Amino acid sequence: MLGANVFFKCENFQRMGAFKFRGAFNALSRFDAVQRRAGVVTFSSGNHAQAVALSARILGMPATILMPSDAPQAKIDATRGYGGEVILFDRFKEDREALLQALARERGMTMIPPFDHPDVIAGQGTAVKELLDEVGELDHLFVCLGGGGLLSGSALSARALSPRCKIYGVEPEAGNDGQQSFRSGHIVRIPTPKTIADGAQSQALGEYTFAVIQRDVDDVLTATDAQLVQAMRFFAERMKMVVEPTGCLGFAAACHAGVPLAGQRVGVLISGGNVDLGRFGELLAL
Ligand SMILES: *Cc1c(COP(=O)(O)O)cnc(C)c1O
Repeated sequence: MLGANVFFKCENFQRMGAFKFRGAFNALSRFDAVQRRAGVVTFSSGNHAQAVALSARILGMPATILMPSDAPQAKIDATRGYGGEVILFDRFKEDREALLQALARERGMTMIPPFDHPDVIAGQGTAVKELLDEVGELDHLFVCLGGGGLLSGSALSARALSPRCKIYGVEPEAGNDGQQSFRSGHIVRIPTPKTIADGAQSQALGEYTFAVIQRDVDDVLTATDAQLVQAMRFFAERMKMVVEPTGCLGFAAACHAGVPLAGQRVGVLISGGNVDLGRFGELLAL
């Protein structure tokens, strides 16, 4: 299709269904004995919630997760299934930061955010490290971009192991705060975007993630919801894989963003596969 050699890193097959297990487990495994006893608190509408709940269960510590009441039901159920205590809040009316701080204070829990934390970034970076260890150096690498934990970790790995590789972050077109930030040189904040890519509805990059992205990433590209659906269909029909809409961002940009790839070695990070089957069918019927 692209005239290129494309290597996919399939984090849809990762434990709990997305790369987020890597960052959460790395961060929680570094807690000291006092932190372990009190446990972890976090907020997430989806995959980070499941990653923290599962990592906490494996490491034997309590986990409390603040989730918006309109998060996908499959992700709320899965988080509870992994043993996390889920507290729902109204993201249009309630102040998430205040709720989090109150929980951390009352319960002595350590806050691990979904992307803007050095241990989370380091953990996320292991996916691209594994890809490069397995396939060798690449010419181009396409990575999904929400708050930037995955992209900044990937960029750190790629800069070390494949220094000439061009690295692109890919966002939903409806929420291109990362592209605006990258091009303007300061963090741009936007209202929660409307897109089917629910894992990339972040409003702004983090302080740590932006610093790495600015230094080590070559460009930030975008993909439309229609292009994500087309990629989802390709993965299902041709590769027999269920990939969630956010997980399709990298491949959608490789196909449509106009980067010349013929004859090149291209890496595409597929970030996750957590989409409930009813929703998957609805999207493919579009
Ligand atoms: C969280 C997530 C992303 C975005 O990752 P960031 O580290 O926030 O940029 C992309 N895809 C999936 C499936 C996710 O869960």
